[in-house]
Amino acid sequence: MSYNTNCVELHEIDYEKEIYKMKASIDRDGCIACELCATTCPEVFRMADDGLAEVHVDEVPEGAEESAKESEEGCPTSVITVGD
Ligand code: SF4
Repeated sequence: MSYNTNCVELHEIDYEKEIYKMKASIDRDGCIACELCATTCPEVFRMADDGLAEVHVDEVPEGAEESAKESEEGCPTSVITVGD
């Protein structure tokens, strides 16, 4: 019984570690400056001085994973990648 509990706990730790390491990137050549990503997930994306979106963090902060993925899915030109 205690063996199964330990397995569940290890799985949860690995899952959180994986989320914490999530990274985001933008192929800026395809950005049309719609501002969707900067609005949906300002913790990760912002509009740069050249008018295009940029990633302003090394890793997606804890708690911003879902909105970062929403930005990836919602980008009209599919130039955002969010993952490991
Ligand atoms: S959602 Fe896509 S096209 Fe729109 S600003 Fe962000 S990267 Fe650019």
